[in-house]
Amino acid sequence: MSVSYIEINRSALRHNLRVIRSHLPAHVDCTAVVKADAYGHGASEAMRIALEEGYNSAAVARVEEGVALRKDGFTCPVFTLGLPLPEEAETAVKYDLIVPVDDTVELEPFEEAAEGQGKILEVWLPIDTGMNRIGTHPEDVEGFLEKLKKYPHIHIHGTFTHMAKADIHDKTTARKQLEKFEEALSHMPQRLEKGFIISAANSAGVLDMPESWYNLARPGIILYGPHPSDEMDNMWDLEYPMRLISHITHVQVLRKGEAIGYGGTYVAEEDMRTATIPIGYADGFHRALSNKGSVLVNGKRHRIIGRICMDQMMIAAGDDVQVGDEVVLLGRQGDEVIYPEEIAAIVNTIPHEVMCGLKRVPRIYVDE
Ligand SMILES: *Cc1c(COP(=O)(O)O)cnc(C)c1O
Repeated sequence: MSVSYIEINRSALRHNLRVIRSHLPAHVDCTAVVKADAYGHGASEAMRIALEEGYNSAAVARVEEGVALRKDGFTCPVFTLGLPLPEEAETAVKYDLIVPVDDTVELEPFEEAAEGQGKILEVWLPIDTGMNRIGTHPEDVEGFLEKLKKYPHIHIHGTFTHMAKADIHDKTTARKQLEKFEEALSHMPQRLEKGFIISAANSAGVLDMPESWYNLARPGIILYGPHPSDEMDNMWDLEYPMRLISHITHVQVLRKGEAIGYGGTYVAEEDMRTATIPIGYADGFHRALSNKGSVLVNGKRHRIIGRICMDQMMIAAGDDVQVGDEVVLLGRQGDEVIYPEEIAAIVNTIPHEVMCGLKRVPRIYVDE
């Protein structure tokens, strides 16, 4: 086994999937957002559990992520969330992905790919209601639908919008976005067709805005433990499936007045024991945690001292730390926990980036 690894607790992931599903009524389908390798948890493993827990589809960011799920044997609907490029048309059709197209997408390559492969390409229409990232604006929906009629091998499977500020307490902007979405929907006669997908809820919408659920919810971050922000009205009982684990490879005494690591940014005020851990910023462990973060050894917090290197880092070891001891850099050890939110606060980001940024470290799965 590798000295450093990401451990994913399948039971915790299943728990979250179940809690979320249980809050949504039966007529609201749920897609599991497993983009960025399920925010670092492994898209295929997460999807296997999601399907068992009543999720009906997968949502990924990109065509190649959808292809990876297909190659792993998934036959469920697979949505992509980011616009495809014309170069991806053949692949999107070949792997039966449901891709977003808006009024800026060049449609001919998609029509030709579908016709050439003797298939119908399913698309869903992103509506820009204020995120200003992708999507057709409500006032342009009618014209775009007219244009789509010229492409007989492209079928409109549904529509979605994305909320920019559903994760704050004041839902005024989020509600305005939903109003615009309603306006866009009013221009889509397809909305009345059976099976036509209408989707607006990200995790924040799932938690706090039942009016955003329509018939397909798209939770991402809450599948993996964190709430979208600490301003949510509803906080559900979610678990953190991910732990980042390593082991102590070296222990030594740092003499009073000696510096440790690049730049000598930490100087011992007295003789002290230090320990070295073989994880660094190349593993996605943020260098900004240098001299700020802590890790768990023997169920106790130990400070990171000196600059985090590319592949290694040092901690204040106390008397207890020995070579070979397990180190938890993220997650629980004994009674102590380092949450992704704690790391995110120190490095000035969100837990999403902390989790999906981990790399090079192999992933292992446990069942409790
Ligand atoms: C990432 C994403 C989601 C999931 O967002 P969370 O806030 O993680 O729940 C849903 N929809 C779209 C379009 C996304 O890009």
